[in-house]
Amino acid sequence: MDCTRFFSPDYAESRRRLIAGARALAPRHGVCIDSRAIDPRGPANETLALDFVIFGARQPRNVLVISSGTHGVEGFCGSAVQHYLIEAVLPTLTLGPQTAVVLQHANNPYGFAWQRRVNESNVDFNRNFCERFDPDLCDPDYVRLHDDLNPTSLAPDAEAASQARIAAYIAEHGERRFQQAAIGGQYRYPRGMQYGGARIEQGAGHLLALIAEHLAAASTVLWLDFHTGLGAFGECELVTGATIDSECYRFSNQVWQGCVKSANSGESVSTPLNGLLDRGIERTLPPGCRLAFAYPEYGTYEPARVMRATRNDNWLHHHGDLHDPTGRAIKAEMLESFNPASATWQQQVVQTGARLVDQALEHLPGASRRSA
Ligand SMILES: [Zn+2]
Repeated sequence: MDCTRFFSPDYAESRRRLIAGARALAPRHGVCIDSRAIDPRGPANETLALDFVIFGARQPRNVLVISSGTHGVEGFCGSAVQHYLIEAVLPTLTLGPQTAVVLQHANNPYGFAWQRRVNESNVDFNRNFCERFDPDLCDPDYVRLHDDLNPTSLAPDAEAASQARIAAYIAEHGERRFQQAAIGGQYRYPRGMQYGGARIEQGAGHLLALIAEHLAAASTVLWLDFHTGLGAFGECELVTGATIDSECYRFSNQVWQGCVKSANSGESVSTPLNGLLDRGIERTLPPGCRLAFAYPEYGTYEPARVMRATRNDNWLHHHGDLHDPTGRAIKAEMLESFNPASATWQQQVVQTGARLVDQALEHLPGASRRSA
């Protein structure tokens, strides 16, 4: 199967295609589309919304959720897996009366549409699910590196000095400690990289409300939230925010065959992270509900390149011009860093995603791949 066709050119086209594909499946599954718009608009003045698309039971007991675009620009990958499901899985899937599949398109629609990792408030959606927001929560080494991570100028001399200081830090403390300090999530600098916010953001609030309203009767929830930018090119690691002694971790590894690694235990490509989506989901699901959760994280390019792309994008939106040659080059590099223009990469993304979905469906009570 040629999987490159599942990748959309932009957020708006992916959304149109998802909604049209879902409506076409209504005779088989019964489809409910609950769309929650956020205030900002897209580059073509289009509506930006979280689209929670339910196939099968209303108020399901058993549900598989596939979500995309938590980190905006990474949504090309997750939505490709969603388009694959619409074309190749849902047409032949049989769902019992208490079972549903949900495609949650674009957790962070602003970031998807404007090709940023962060949302309209410069907030990293996947650091925003905190029970309280503490401006003191900021790694001391982030404070030390702040000016180099968040430059006000990309002039060559200033850049050379900044990169030299970052290189010296990495030489002294190691790449992994740098990753921890730089991307763990900080709550002090609203214009800085990896800002987690000061309150639950509008989109995050929408997502938690959708879960509370539609999954209130759930007893088994399996959830995949697709990401890119960390790891070797095209390879996929399953990451969770759950700790290794938790029931969520145990159940996730039962579903995905021992491949789910905890970001908070040092066994993952990811270092410990604050305010994660999966922690917010677990708190919002009804008491006693079993949750298996994983972030499939697909590698793209080397960490220094991906970090530089994100850092320059942050500079661009605060200090630059989206429409001049520097701005356009930064946006092109941002897109390539999180959505490589490579048929091989796209093929690997969808094939691995398809396998993860198959493994989940085997553990979803009431779901059968046999044609009805
Ligand atoms: Zn991500």
